[in-house]
Amino acid sequence: MTELNDVVDDLTLPSNVKIETDDGHTWATEDALLVQLEEAIHSTTGRSGGRSASHTRMILDADALMQFHRITSTIGDWCRMAGATVERNPVKDLRAWHAAMLSSNDDTDFYLRELHSWSTLIRSKLAPRSTLEWLKPCPECDADEFTNKEGETVKHPVVIDYDPEAPFASVRWTCRACGEMRAGEFAQRALAYDGETRQEDVNDNGVVLP
Ligand SMILES: [Zn+2]
Repeated sequence: MTELNDVVDDLTLPSNVKIETDDGHTWATEDALLVQLEEAIHSTTGRSGGRSASHTRMILDADALMQFHRITSTIGDWCRMAGATVERNPVKDLRAWHAAMLSSNDDTDFYLRELHSWSTLIRSKLAPRSTLEWLKPCPECDADEFTNKEGETVKHPVVIDYDPEAPFASVRWTCRACGEMRAGEFAQRALAYDGETRQEDVNDNGVVLP
């Protein structure tokens, strides 16, 4: 039960995190993962950034919203099955569910897997990612422009993003014209290969940093 306890705490309680500084380290309090996910939904405005960066952030936020609703409703289902009260507040509900589970003999393997997958998902979503614009057409739909939220036609629909801490493992690209998303180093190589074998006038294989 301690493993279940740990992952529930991770999702629902603030934690202390060690932050490396120039002269040693310091400690900061980090919100619970579910709270951070909820905050990510509302983070679209109020930050500066380049055009492509803010667009990518909107994609992330729409996904955060979807995941937040999915997780909230799953926790609600679990509460109903365990006989716990549902307030549609994922933090309170998950803790209420956990308390109900402590007094039951239900097998926790399934729940552990699910909870770990949520914490991995939220952590990967919250990690700051770097974005680049791919200057060639999308390999999937062939578009070299797309219509943005403001209704403008903009060049270079494909954006590449990655976690700067682990660029090869985390790299993915997304096409803002057709919505295709491919992740992983192989997808990246395939994109580069497609770029090299095209015959367009684009000489530049480079990228635009936001
Ligand atoms: Zn496309």
